[in-house]
Amino acid sequence: MLRAYHRLMGETRDKLHRILSFAGEAVAETLWPTRCALCDMPGDVLCERCARSLAHVDWWRACHRCGSPFGHVQCDACNPVALRRLARDDWPFARCASAMAFDEATGRLVRVFKDQGEQRLAHVMAAAMVRMVAPSWEFDAITFVPATLAAERYRGFDHAQLIARDVAAAIDIPCIETLARPKTRDQRKLTGAQRIANLAGSFHALDGRLPNRILLVDDVFTTGATLCAASDALLAAGCREVSCLTFARV
Ligand SMILES: [Zn+2]
Ligand SMILES: [Zn+2]
Repeated sequence: MLRAYHRLMGETRDKLHRILSFAGEAVAETLWPTRCALCDMPGDVLCERCARSLAHVDWWRACHRCGSPFGHVQCDACNPVALRRLARDDWPFARCASAMAFDEATGRLVRVFKDQGEQRLAHVMAAAMVRMVAPSWEFDAITFVPATLAAERYRGFDHAQLIARDVAAAIDIPCIETLARPKTRDQRKLTGAQRIANLAGSFHALDGRLPNRILLVDDVFTTGATLCAASDALLAAGCREVSCLTFARV
């Protein structure tokens, strides 16, 4: 009898909680309507006009190895001189693609998502990224470049994990956590050489068996140093092939 009473009270409380949170969202939407992250127009988190005007990467013009937006015929990033700047002979990952070329609008979108905490943009970014995954790409799971501990504490969420979860949901492949959070400085304020030094040995795989082929997700491909370091860690831990996918490409 007492147990039934507690269960009933629990269900009532859950129902009330759902109603209040729905009412709370409705009130918040009335007082502070959702606005476009780029043009501030009320409606969606990214309006249709702004979404269309973003610098979408044309898959046929991009490098199919590293995802450089205009590298299909001759890639500015897949050559010995560019790779030497990363202290590499070759990319550790098998392939990479990005959805957008990094420009003012793309950069603002990433900042609103990461630094202003507009987490609903993860869904928008993931939708653009999924279109860049060619049917020939094969992978058994999706993972992400984890945020540093300091960044996750400051933002309250792991930005790449949110995007990876939405990518995983869209293509129906499991999203798994494979890499430990690095104790490094924020990469955004560092030069190319500093990025490499900052990342040297920064990632290591978590315990547990890794799938043979994995899709590694991050928000921005800047020099490629982060994706290289994360790919190294996955390959060292037993993964056979890493493919990379980012929202933006510098
Ligand atoms: Zn807009
Ligand atoms: Zn390339």
